[in-house]
Amino acid sequence: MKILAQLDTSDESIILIDNSNSVSKNLINKISLTLNSNPNKVILINPNLSQSEILSKLDFDIKNLSQLSKLEILNKEFEINDLLNLGRDLVKKIIDRVFIISSNFEESKIIEIYQNCLINRIPINTYNSSKYSTFTLLSTYNNGDLQIGITTNLHGCKMSSRLKRELIKSIPPNINDIILNVSNLRNLINSNEILNKKEKLKWLSQIIDYYPLNELGKISIDKLNNDLNDLVFKTPNSLNSSINNKKIGKISLVGSGPGSISNLTIGALNSIYEADLILADKLVPQEILNLIPKNVEIFIARKFPGNADNAQDELLKIGLEAIEKGLNVVRLKQGDPYIFGRGGEEYLFFQNHGYKVNVLCGLSSPFVATINAGIPTTHRGVADQIMICTGVGRLGKIPENLPLFESKRTVIFLMSIKRIVDILPILINEKQWPSNLPVAIVERASCGDERVIRTRLGNLADVCNKIESRPPGLIVTGWACDVYTKLNDNEEFRIIETGVSLDDNVDLEKIVTLLK
Ligand code: SAH
Repeated sequence: MKILAQLDTSDESIILIDNSNSVSKNLINKISLTLNSNPNKVILINPNLSQSEILSKLDFDIKNLSQLSKLEILNKEFEINDLLNLGRDLVKKIIDRVFIISSNFEESKIIEIYQNCLINRIPINTYNSSKYSTFTLLSTYNNGDLQIGITTNLHGCKMSSRLKRELIKSIPPNINDIILNVSNLRNLINSNEILNKKEKLKWLSQIIDYYPLNELGKISIDKLNNDLNDLVFKTPNSLNSSINNKKIGKISLVGSGPGSISNLTIGALNSIYEADLILADKLVPQEILNLIPKNVEIFIARKFPGNADNAQDELLKIGLEAIEKGLNVVRLKQGDPYIFGRGGEEYLFFQNHGYKVNVLCGLSSPFVATINAGIPTTHRGVADQIMICTGVGRLGKIPENLPLFESKRTVIFLMSIKRIVDILPILINEKQWPSNLPVAIVERASCGDERVIRTRLGNLADVCNKIESRPPGLIVTGWACDVYTKLNDNEEFRIIETGVSLDDNVDLEKIVTLLK
């Protein structure tokens, strides 16, 4: 295993060994990289290139010109003794790190340098050769406080660069605001004297794991601070604005599906495009929020532990005011509005205020998750019932009516991953559920980072403890889990990364044109 390094050569003396006749891109890159990595000095040894030739090509992004003074160019052949004579006094003049730059050295020469580096414990990196490198560099991306390093374990730096580009594309432009905001938020929550440590963690996780990434940069810390103690109503701009050409407002309760745009109904997409104001749950995925046209205002429910009821009241109040002003309001809910989404309550609220609610179903996460995990929820001879349960009862307690075991039933528990430790003993000891019942945890169904973890009921608590969960997730139980794939007898659990970017092939512009 090589050391994979993001270069930080604090106070090291580094030799770059080169013998090419022209200044290569790789040479420029390595000079730039090493000079920027805070070294003691960088010594370039090349017998063919003059100092002025090299310096004239150095229009790279050295942070600070004073760094250039750390570059020493020796116009000579490299000698093995250089490894032992050109370093710092502190380490008896032994060089700290070596880069072989050009690929046209004889292999025997490279072996000689490499072996001498090994003997003297000098880390060496040979261009395009993992065989003669003791360390390799990560392809890195730095943006303010964010640093990402990528490696394909020496299977090609081009691939790392490509992956890097893809990753960077998916990072929101306001990532530094997001990082800063979340860090302030963490400090704010940590300094709160009312919440205990567990509650603080829960708060943070509710915000960081569930809130759409782009929005994390915009949450107002002051407002959240108020949320912690008391709720302050925020009025979306559209309510204050006078742009109001519709006489009677409308309200639609719309399911967004579990994540992917491919699982959004055409009806939902249409209502998103026609809305004046979208009131969204924080679980509604970023991909879907990205579809919302710029002129449509979005308000995201501020549901955090202990604040769910207040946030719900706030949302309903905003919705009502907007309809009264004649706006077209879309209440966008994750999955299906009626599956553990308080959709019915919202319907009744608006109905009681004299408004008819238009309800559009959405694909519910249990159905998408089971399909994607390869679990036929009903299967002849195996399962002829499906049950969808919650792992959280009223006031956050364990649900009172957990079901008795029924062997031909596929049971899907939502909101259960954190609660399973408390639920399992009841299922196994009181409700006669067998410990060897196959189960699958399905996380982030239909998103690019979807993951399935298969295990058996008896191991479930342990497995949930071992994995770092990727919310949102649900638990599927029943013999239907075993129809396509089974765990081996002695296999405790199996993690399967099932995420695919379904949406890459969705030509949204075409769909939108069709809709219009
Ligand atoms: N109305 C939603 C469910 C809301 S309850 C629906 O119809 O899907 C929230 C729970 O749904 C989460 O705790 C989780 O258990 C589940 N869930 C939502 N989206 C999910 C997803 N993409 N993958 C896995 N589980 C999901």
